[in-house]
Amino acid sequence: MSNPQIIDECPFDDGVAAGRALGREALAGQTREWLDDPLLCDDLGAMSEAALARRIVGRLETEPDDGSRPELAEVYPDRVDYVRGVAEGAGCTIEQAALHDYVQYVRGIRDATAMMRPPLDGGGCSGAFMVGPDGVLTGQNIDSGAQHRPPDFGVTESGPVELTLKRPRSGYICDWGLTNEVGLAAVGAGGSVGTWLDEPVVDVWPYKTIPLTRFARNVGELADLCERYRTFNPGRGTGVWADVTGAAVVVEESHRRVGIAHVEDDVAWATEGNFQTDSMSAYIRERRLAYVKSRGRHLGANDLQYATDCAVRYCHLGELTHRDLGRGMDHMRAVLTDHAPFPRAVCRHGGPDTDEYDQTITLQSTVRNLTTNRAYARMFVPGKKFCCEVPEVVMEYPPRPFDKT
Ligand SMILES: [Zn+2]
Repeated sequence: MSNPQIIDECPFDDGVAAGRALGREALAGQTREWLDDPLLCDDLGAMSEAALARRIVGRLETEPDDGSRPELAEVYPDRVDYVRGVAEGAGCTIEQAALHDYVQYVRGIRDATAMMRPPLDGGGCSGAFMVGPDGVLTGQNIDSGAQHRPPDFGVTESGPVELTLKRPRSGYICDWGLTNEVGLAAVGAGGSVGTWLDEPVVDVWPYKTIPLTRFARNVGELADLCERYRTFNPGRGTGVWADVTGAAVVVEESHRRVGIAHVEDDVAWATEGNFQTDSMSAYIRERRLAYVKSRGRHLGANDLQYATDCAVRYCHLGELTHRDLGRGMDHMRAVLTDHAPFPRAVCRHGGPDTDEYDQTITLQSTVRNLTTNRAYARMFVPGKKFCCEVPEVVMEYPPRPFDKT
């Protein structure tokens, strides 16, 4: 078998499989259960299912007509085919399948909004980007409280990775190892979460998340898509996106807003919970102050420690990436294993025995080389070793089309 194996994406077949696995009765039961959920029972749940289903099928049957978002016309048939497939597989009507899909979607976006209400648990991911003698590098530490660790924690893959890739009906294969088919990094180097009291997610069904790497060849196109599809791809945090030419953008986002910073000097960095662009920086500050006021607290309150933590670490990361260390793999490793005292530390060793404000632990630390399509990952071993103390596990992905020339 060749590596990668490339097969055509078939949303209808995916829908049939999902519908068949669920079955008609379970599908109807799940729809009702979600409609009765406290998140939905007051509005959608109070309507008659038949009336709601009619409205939803009307939305499903409405073809996209949005001149500023032509990509919708390419995603739309996928969504329709998927819902039709579910109906076929479950042996139910298109109305029932559409209603199930819609109710699940709305419950998801309301849950995301509810989950983000304060107080939030501290985290603190860090990301960096640099171009140097070893190629285009991104680095990321994923941090969390010490108590959050899955029982099966650990890297299982190593060496050459076997990939089965799905080719969409238009655009690029999204997940060719570290990048999409044409070399845009699908995974940025930044953090996640980070804004309190965000605005509710916009209901854009029948669309769900728009796969930006399917439509972007480079970071310029990616930045444009991020702005045009902000409300379609709810998210909150800061990320660095890069492509194999060495270009990068920093994308700062909340559910409804986006700030883009273009990178000019081959170095970029980001931390969770910190926005640098003028508009997003003003936004996060306004939201934080409103939150502090609503809770009768001040910025030093414990559950806000990470507001200042992220900003301080952001400044420290900038200094680390600009050190005279060559901008290669060793430089990136030095950034990700920095052990400055809290709150500047990039590699985090807190735990139940440290002060409450300093309990974050770096769970995963990864350097990605977009040029060679290889990743070097290290994972925290609970109770035994921190990321910086274990050997890197190398993942080597098969060559992309442009690698072969
Ligand atoms: Zn460490």
